[in-house]
This record gives sequence, structure tokens and C-alpha cells, in this order.
Amino acid sequence: MKRVLIIGAAGQIGSELAGALRERYGNNNVIASDIKVNPDNISTDEGIYRVVDCTDGKAVSDIVKKWDVHIIYHLAAVLSAAAEENPQLAWHINMTGLLNVLQVAREHKCQVFHPSSIGVFGSTTPPNNTPQDTIQRPTTLYGITKVAGELLCDYYFNRFGVDTRGVRYPGIMSHRTLPGGGTTDYAAEIYYAAVRRKKYTCYLSKGTYLDMMYIPDAIRAAIDLMEADSSKLKHRNSYNVTAMSVCPDDIAAEIRTLVPEFAMTYEIDPIRQDIADSWPNSIDDNCAREEWGWQPKYDLQSMTKEMVETLTRRYRK
Ligand code: NAD
Repeated sequence: MKRVLIIGAAGQIGSELAGALRERYGNNNVIASDIKVNPDNISTDEGIYRVVDCTDGKAVSDIVKKWDVHIIYHLAAVLSAAAEENPQLAWHINMTGLLNVLQVAREHKCQVFHPSSIGVFGSTTPPNNTPQDTIQRPTTLYGITKVAGELLCDYYFNRFGVDTRGVRYPGIMSHRTLPGGGTTDYAAEIYYAAVRRKKYTCYLSKGTYLDMMYIPDAIRAAIDLMEADSSKLKHRNSYNVTAMSVCPDDIAAEIRTLVPEFAMTYEIDPIRQDIADSWPNSIDDNCAREEWGWQPKYDLQSMTKEMVETLTRRYRK
């Protein structure tokens, strides 16, 4: 059985990926790790959990050696809005961390999953149905690290034969762990607010369209890509993937079909609005569909139903 290491496992995506990978590979074959010491969103009893700082190359190397790891899901990063608060830290974690992981993967012949983002695009990118291969001139520090990350992963594949793979995630919505400082965080926050307080003040304007995806699709995208036939992957480190293109007003309207009294007001955060305005309204994910069979299962309606029902059950207790 293959052994898997997740770095950044206590985050929004990692906390759910850990469960899915433990189910697939067995609790004793998945090493969840993060810089957080006692995360409350990931079970440390049912599976293996270790504290690892990805900027410490020796720590990454030690854990890979100790557990004889075959696959690394490297999720640790500083997200878009948080990166604007502290660009130097974001560069250090996003770039030094990735370089450490790639170097260790080269030495120990590991496969690497490293998510990129719709943040790799900028205001000069065609904004509608953004193609797979197009202009990438992001204006955010986060976007710069993600473009550099895609290129660095390509480099390690072409130069050293490391089996690197990655998708450009859109905004991810989930009900286990709230996102940690991204521009699309509002989309998950709306659901919590709708269920608990019946109102939400949104920091993006009502007509700001962005691509989104529900977490089960995001987890499946990662695992399916890692299990795809390598010879078919032409865009291996940078697949556009999406499930829906929606604006805050669309989400609010869908929530109101289940929570009719839900009210949304707007108070624009200029920094996050600028970031959102520089990103595509919608992206074209045909390459992912053709090269490894990507297909989302959830749309706005089915995701909203599940989010509202799950959060209502949780907060009723
Ligand atoms: P998150 O912020 O929720 O989680 C990141 C995790 O990394 C946190 O638990 C944090 O403690 C950990 N971390 C930070 N510094 C670390 C370090 N030095 N060493 C080890 N761990 C460290 O992020 P997420 O939403 O789960 O995102 C995971 C990946 O997916 C990131 O690369 C992100 O850029 C990408 N992505 C996420 C989204 C989204 O909407 N969530 C969209 C596009 C791309």
C-alpha cells in the first residue's frame, strides 16, 4: 500500500482530504501534518498526525524518510488576502515550502500534488471562459507565487522527472473548516451566517462573478488527477477546474429558496474587491475534462442544499 503525506492538513482543503485519503489508503498509511500543534478540525486519534513546518527542509525530509512516503499532497500556503497583509511571509511559505517539498520528492522519488489557483490570472487575462493557456500576469503576491509554483513544478518534472501534478482551484466552499484568508472566503461564510443569524454583510459587490467549487468535488479532483495516466497529462501542473461561476447575489438567492428570511447587505472591502476584479468571471476547464476525465458533481443548487442542511443540523444541537 502506498504511503501518503499531507502538508497543510489542518486547513480548509487538507482537513477533508485527510479523511478521504485515510479511507482510501488506510489510517496507518496517511500522515497528516501541519504547522498547527493541536488542530480541532482533524482527528489525531484515528490517524497519524505530526507537526511539520514546510519551510524547514530537514523536517520535510525527515518525515518523508521516516514513513517511506510515496505521495505528497502539499497544501500549506498563505492565501490571497492574507498574502497582501504579509507579502514576505507569503513568499517564504509558498515558495521556500514548495521548493523544499520538490527537492525532497526528487531525492525520495515521491509524487507531488501542489494546488495552483485562479489567482494565477490577472486583469489582462481574458475574463470570460478563460482558456487553459492564456496571459498570466497576476497583480497579487499570492498569484505571483502560484504562477512561479506552476513553473517550478514543471521544472522539477522536466528536469528531474519528479511526477508533479496540480489544478488551478477556484474558490472552495465547505462546512468543516472555514477558509483561511482567501478572496472567495465570503462564499463559505454566507452559509454559516445564513443558518446562524439569517443575515450576512458581504465584502464583495453583488455582481462579482467568480468560479467556485464544493469541497467534495475539490477532493475528488485532487485524487483523480494523482491517479490519472501520466502519459495523458499535457498540462500537468496547472489544470483549470471549475464547477460553477456565481456572484454573491446568486448564492444569496439560492439560499433564500431554503432560508426565505435570509438578508444580505454589502460593505465592500477595496483590497479583496480589487483582487476579485482581477480574476476571471469564469474559466474553461476542457483540458482537465479531456486529459483526465474531470467532471464536477455539484452545482449551486445541490451544493446549497447540502451546505444549508448540514449547518442547520450542526447548529440546531
Ligand atoms: P488554508 O489556509 O485553509 O490551509 C493552509 C494550511 O497550511 C493551514 O492549516 C496552515 O496552518 C498550514 N500552514 C501554514 N504555514 C505552514 C507551514 N510553514 N508549514 C506547514 N503548514 C503550514 O488553505 P486551503 O484553503 O486549505 O488551501 C490549500 C491549498 O489550496 C493552498 O495551496 C491554496 O493556495 C490552494 N487553494 C485554495 C483555495 C480555496 O478556496 N480554499 C482556492 C485556490 C487554491
